[in-house]
Amino acid sequence: MKTRGYAALSARADLVPFEFSRRDLRAHDVALDIKFTGVCHSDIHQVNEDWGPSIFPMVPGHEIVGVVTAVGPDVTKFRVGERIGVGTFVDSCRTCEYCRRGEQQYCTTGDTPTYNGYERDGVTPTYGGYGDTFIVDEDFAVHVADSLDLAGVAPLLCAGITLYSPLRHWGATAGQEVGIIGLGGLGHMGVKFAAALGATTTVFSHSAHKRDDAARLGAHRFVDTTDHAAMAALAGRYDLIINTVSADLDLAPYFDLVKVDGALVIVGLPVKAYQVRPFNLVAKRRSLAGSMAGGIKETQEMMDFCAENGITSDVEVVDAGYIARAFERTLASDVKYRFVIDAASF
Ligand code: NAP
Ligand code: ZN
Ligand code: ZN
Repeated sequence: MKTRGYAALSARADLVPFEFSRRDLRAHDVALDIKFTGVCHSDIHQVNEDWGPSIFPMVPGHEIVGVVTAVGPDVTKFRVGERIGVGTFVDSCRTCEYCRRGEQQYCTTGDTPTYNGYERDGVTPTYGGYGDTFIVDEDFAVHVADSLDLAGVAPLLCAGITLYSPLRHWGATAGQEVGIIGLGGLGHMGVKFAAALGATTTVFSHSAHKRDDAARLGAHRFVDTTDHAAMAALAGRYDLIINTVSADLDLAPYFDLVKVDGALVIVGLPVKAYQVRPFNLVAKRRSLAGSMAGGIKETQEMMDFCAENGITSDVEVVDAGYIARAFERTLASDVKYRFVIDAASF
């Protein structure tokens, strides 16, 4: 299927218009017209090869929403005309312990990334959602309620599930203190979900001007992380702190805020290693953990939670020609709170 999209042709290059073909529909495949694709900071990391060598040409994009246009003969999960979402992976081994329990992101053989990866054959590159069409196996897509604003749904497929999953795993609930470090694409979804789950929610931000937005998004407290006294006043208070920051960060001040048996969970993926002093963990039986996106089962659960609670991402919808500027502004923490590309502009 002919697809018009945008690709980076080499590392750190600006994205340019790029035409390519999606595979023919297989028995369990669903074809969709993409309506919106979110710009995740991971797209920037991978174009820039922050995490190591990437595959070029690269069509980024793993926050995809659209409408089903065709289904293969054996598809039972979707109908033509239905809304559909695709996130950070499009296949997995389907048989390992983690795949069987719906946590494909932890597949023992590695999941198949939506882009900058290879299909299960190991040689066919995957192309992501910066384009006007997509083909996906029905088992790797989710239903999207008609009640939700579609542009605001796109970021749920990565930013949303990446915060929903650890909040649920570590049991964020009423009576708990939850902190979110970094009010960007991931962070603003973390605030919405933590507040909706009933937790007392704090934003830790290095951008003081985001204070009012934090409150509007549902946060109960805003801490300017450059204010050391304000940080110190919260020592030993938090059950769970999730770090969404895309840049190198000194974690030491945040460990101090975690209470006995609490956890500091990393979802941001900067390049440099973190420093952890043994006392950071030992002194209060604290955990340092990480979390990767979320499986299909939990992504559907999150979508349903969003429909019930009227939750979507706060987005700035842009045309494909704005991608380079969107990358620049994301790197400068100047995004409220996710850029979403209108796929009609590809
Ligand atoms: P984003 O929208 O750019 O948000 C990152 C936020 O981090 C910024 O808004 C900013 O918040 C804060 N920040 C940026 N530079 C900083 C600095 N120098 N010092 C302190 N804070 C800084 O990015 P995103 O799309 O949310 O992604 C965040 C990270 O998560 C990226 O590394 C991405 O690759 C990773 N990620 C991981 C997963 C996963 O599965 N674990 C999934 C998706 C993305 P303030 O202005 O409020 O300080
Ligand atoms: Zn992402
Ligand atoms: Zn597996």
